[in-house]
Amino acid sequence: LASATQSILMPGSWLGMMGGGQLGRMFCHAAQSMGYRVAVLEPQAACPAGAVADHHIQAGYADQQGLDALARQCGAVTVEFENVPADSLAYLGGHLRVAPGAYAVAIAQDRLAEKDFFTRAGVPVAPYAPVLTPADIETLPDTLFPGILKSARLGYDGKGQVRVNDREQLLQAWRELGGVPCVLEARLALASEWSVVLARDSLGHSVAYTPSCNTHIDGILAVSWVDDARVSSRLRDTLQSSAKAIADALDYVGVLCVEFFELQDGRLIANEMAPRPHNSGHYTIDACRSSQFEQQARVMAGMPLGDPACLCPSVMLNVLGDVWFDESGTMREPDWAAVLAVPGAKLHLYGKEEARHGRKMGHITLLGDTGEQAWAAARQVATILG
Ligand code: ADP
Ligand code: MG
Repeated sequence: LASATQSILMPGSWLGMMGGGQLGRMFCHAAQSMGYRVAVLEPQAACPAGAVADHHIQAGYADQQGLDALARQCGAVTVEFENVPADSLAYLGGHLRVAPGAYAVAIAQDRLAEKDFFTRAGVPVAPYAPVLTPADIETLPDTLFPGILKSARLGYDGKGQVRVNDREQLLQAWRELGGVPCVLEARLALASEWSVVLARDSLGHSVAYTPSCNTHIDGILAVSWVDDARVSSRLRDTLQSSAKAIADALDYVGVLCVEFFELQDGRLIANEMAPRPHNSGHYTIDACRSSQFEQQARVMAGMPLGDPACLCPSVMLNVLGDVWFDESGTMREPDWAAVLAVPGAKLHLYGKEEARHGRKMGHITLLGDTGEQAWAAARQVATILG
């Protein structure tokens, strides 16, 4: 029986977060509202999560003293970005609960391992081939062109990716990326992009949120909309069961996001996963019974999972640093009063001091009684922000 139960961390306990970005900050808010205390390990002095954490351990992600301090203080540790060294998580895992574990994070860090894993879990992926040497470029199949070359590690928000039409361009792109291990994927005709956030506990129970439909601009998530009434049950079930199959195969513990492509011929394929709450799941803060960050805290604490039910349609707009600049490039504060006057607008800013082009500064979720209402509000906000 003991193996079928898990130890519970009561409110008042310390939860540890590797990483000090906005996802860590929103985790702090959720965990603290349930009475938990949060220690954040992050090398940068000024950071979104450090500003709200109960304790900020200012140390590198592989710093032995920092890791020991986090392990001494906390009952469980999680991550807010996937490039925390897996070795650090494995080390922490020898001392306390680490969710997700080093193995799952290590797979999410490497696109080749990730695609291989999805395939073995029975979830289809885009046609691909590894590009590790110039010889690979000679031998990979013609059917991968036109393609997208992606560095296997450390890519995000469209960085570390180059579109290529033939082998010559591929060789050049691979050299431009520094000759690091890469994957070449066939460029597919996408109808839509979807993502599913789920939470899974150490007993293997999981709950999945309503899939969000995502639009990227310049490789960065720009808009996500979620509307239970607009997603067919077939699509919803396929997306959720595919995400769950991946989580189960990983014996995943924590919050996981899986991104999917819906192809123009109707097929669904998995693109990548994030071993943490995801930008496309920010709507859960305002539109769901329990948010993705609350789930992260619940799983870490060994508490029951929260109810993922979606209460109303929503549209989420990412707020990039670009909106701090007018047409002439002059900096000015966006008109937040006008934004907050829009019915159903929920403003989230991450407390970053300096606005830069392409930098995620916050997001705005527009809630509506209907999808049309949420979209109308989103268009109003988009006009205000220019
Ligand atoms: P990142 O880690 O930067 O999010 P992704 O693999 O998700 O990397 O790619 C970023 C975006 O590029 C995707 O959301 C999608 O719009 C586009 N993209 C990626 N791979 C393909 C593909 N094989 N075919 C068509 N578009 C793609
Ligand atoms: Mg992506």
